[in-house]
Amino acid sequence: MREMHCATCQAEMPFESLPYDEDGDELVCTGCGTAVVTAPITVRLLMRQPAGAGIAPQQRRAAA
Ligand SMILES: [Zn+2]
Repeated sequence: MREMHCATCQAEMPFESLPYDEDGDELVCTGCGTAVVTAPITVRLLMRQPAGAGIAPQQRRAAA
């Protein structure tokens, strides 16, 4: 739980992380339920690249 400014409530509101969000960078306003992502979008994109390359069909076929 952490306090942040909610654009919908237009006030400082307590935010709590989603139970299914392992990274904990996605928070939901306890006042209106608006979800916000605290991590920069560039960081999320960079973190996705290795996982996407690892499950490429061509790489799987070459390894088998
Ligand atoms: Zn809110």
